[in-house]
Order: sequence, then C-alpha cells, then structure tokens
Amino acid sequence: MRIETLVVPPLDNNVYLVVDEASHQAAVIDTGLGARDLLAKAESLGVKIIAILNTHGHADHTADDAPLKAATGAKLAIFEVDAYRLARNAKESKWFLPAPPPAVTADLLLKEGTTVPIGGVVLETLHTPGHTEGSCCFYDEANGVLFSGDTLFAGSCGRTDTLGASPAKMKASLRRLAELPPDTKVLPGHGPATTIGKETWIADLAYPVV
Ligand SMILES: [Zn+2]
Repeated sequence: MRIETLVVPPLDNNVYLVVDEASHQAAVIDTGLGARDLLAKAESLGVKIIAILNTHGHADHTADDAPLKAATGAKLAIFEVDAYRLARNAKESKWFLPAPPPAVTADLLLKEGTTVPIGGVVLETLHTPGHTEGSCCFYDEANGVLFSGDTLFAGSCGRTDTLGASPAKMKASLRRLAELPPDTKVLPGHGPATTIGKETWIADLAYPVV
C-alpha cells in the first residue's frame, strides 16, 4: 500500500490518496478543494480512483466530492447520519469557500464496521461521533493506519461546539481509539501525522463526562 498526502484549500485540509499497488486501484479520503491535485496525482501514479470516502460532512472536507466523482466515476461514501450534510452544504455559504459546493449524493452510506476494499487494501469504518454525529475513522488494520478526520489530531481533537457535535461522544470516541495498537499511524484531517501511542492524553480522559 502507498499513501499520498496532499494539503489543499480551503483550510489546509489533508486529503489522502490510498493506493493498492497490485491492482492500481485507489481511494480518496476527503477531497477539500483538491480534486485537480488528486486527479493529477492519480494520473502520475497510473491508478484509478474507485472510491471517495468522507470522514465527515463538513464542507471543507467534502467541497470537491462532486467534481471528483464526476471525473472518476468513483463511488462516494459517507457515514449514514452525516449524509444529510452533503445536501445542506450545497445550500449554505461558508466564509472559507468561494461558493457552496455542488450538490452531490452518496452512493454508499457507511455504518459501523462497513469495510471498503480497494484492491487488496481493506478500510474498515469506525464510527467515532463527537465532532459531528456521523464522523468516522477509516482503519487499515493490516497496515496499521488510521485516517482520523477531525476526530483525532496530533495533540488535540476536533471542535465539539457546532451543530451535531458532542463533547461526551468525542470523549468516548477518543477512548475507543486509545484501544488501537500504539504503533498505529494516525493520519488526520488537518495537521501532522502522529501515532496512537504518542497521543497518551486520549487514554486519560475522564468518562462519562457531559
Ligand atoms: Zn470538521
């Protein structure tokens, strides 16, 4: 497996191209305003993007879902309870986007445990609510990699004071992630990569806390 990390607008979003080198298939984790860059990277590697996976429905992460889906024919996936945000984003102006993203519909509504195969790479959906109700992480157990979206960053977590967010659920989700193997590589939606083992604070959270 090969992972390409691209930092793209509108908010220095990390978007990832996950490549299965044997099959030349790839998945994209979040799009931001990165469709053009992702397409160029996929072309340079000679791989076909077959799936677009959203870690959650915030517009800075989903902005280019529609153009990337149109350009590739890839299946678009988002956790089921965040799917309404794709339609909502198309109707809302955001200070960080020049225009609302085009409306787009998910092809696959993810649930806890849904697995998405990309050739020989298997990405498992872990429901990690807190930042939004349908935030999820994508876990490649075989390769020890977690795409953590805005749930877990290096040294912090995503905000929990906006629509659909919950500090209590965030704590429970972080405690869940703390159970993963310490050497699991964490690739977040913003900022640098880390590992579960480096983020010792997530195991120390008091629970339940409301
Ligand atoms: Zn977010």
